[in-house]
Amino acid sequence: MEAFSPTDAAVRRPIPSLGFPLTASERAFFARAGSARAFPFRATAFLLSCIDPADPADPIRRQIVPTEDELAARGYERDDPLDEGRFTVAPGLVRRYRDRCIFKATDACAVHCRFCFRKGLLGEAGFVAGKGEVREAARWLARRPEVREVLVTGGDPLVLPPARLEAIMSGLREFRPDVSLRIGTRLPAADPERITDELALLLARFRPLWITVHCNHPAELSAPVAAALGRIMSRGIRLGGQSVLLAGINDDAETLHALFKRQAEVGLRPYYLFHLDPAPGTSHFRVPLERGLELMEEVKTRFPRTAVPVYALDLPDGGGKAPVSSLRFERGADGSLRLRERSGSVCRYRPDEEAPRR
Ligand SMILES: *Cc1c(COP(=O)(O)O)cnc(C)c1O
Ligand code: SF4
Repeated sequence: MEAFSPTDAAVRRPIPSLGFPLTASERAFFARAGSARAFPFRATAFLLSCIDPADPADPIRRQIVPTEDELAARGYERDDPLDEGRFTVAPGLVRRYRDRCIFKATDACAVHCRFCFRKGLLGEAGFVAGKGEVREAARWLARRPEVREVLVTGGDPLVLPPARLEAIMSGLREFRPDVSLRIGTRLPAADPERITDELALLLARFRPLWITVHCNHPAELSAPVAAALGRIMSRGIRLGGQSVLLAGINDDAETLHALFKRQAEVGLRPYYLFHLDPAPGTSHFRVPLERGLELMEEVKTRFPRTAVPVYALDLPDGGGKAPVSSLRFERGADGSLRLRERSGSVCRYRPDEEAPRR
């Protein structure tokens, strides 16, 4: 199925026709976003077809159809909440840890998730890593044998033309055939028919390969998606599940339990449940950290621990990922939040405007 591209009539017109009536808040986004520096709407026909047209709170709809809440940026929100700019060591290459790094293959995606932590960076610039960038990354890797793994991400690397994807993957290994590759993608859940046998075969050339699939609600893991994941697994590629905790979408124990259960059924090993990063216009998706911890504790009582992902937070100022359960919180009387790491270091958590719910 075809993804809408930013040049489609559906996007150029102020109010796209999605096959169901829009709510007042959704219409207000499209009416007002034209002039604002807003993250453009982008979806796939497959995802739109999964939405229950009668339910404005449909969990897939809430993830992909923008509302006017997005136009209300908060002071603590940042275009680059993970400070990736500061950790960029070569074009597209971000190193935060000693032993692993990420390589952004493209800034394009099949779907624009409204809460994306890179929404302030993903644009319509149409960046695709070319020969030059891949060469530079490969040379950088050649000088750093301590870097053992490259996470190829974006955007979504699987939306690239297969020949480009192959050139990027093999290019990264040019001087480091030993380097492990991992891919982060949303495509299997956004457009499962694009996960063809040919694509799975191409990917299998880079085994041992691990692919983490972004999905946030059990409704995203329907039969066609399970079949797409099956095509990947049948080629000996290992799959992981990666989700974001989102208010109104999966912030209750029933839904999280169903999500992790469904992930296990379709072969996704639980990996991370991320706390939402403070990207612009995402406050309506924010769940307080204390609530996230409470939910995960509840889910763990129903499940074997091995079936539950790590609830993780990107520490402020590019501090890297930390399991939320490893942090001590200190909530000030004004609602401000300090996080104390095991190492003893303390940081002020930026989304301190979020009021604790208790
Ligand atoms: C998330 C991330 C990684 C991968 O971390 P894992 O914990 O191994 O999933 C590597 N480099 C950067 C810069 C990252 O942000
Ligand atoms: S697919 Fe990933 S990178 Fe693309 S918009 Fe969604 S969360 Fe962001």
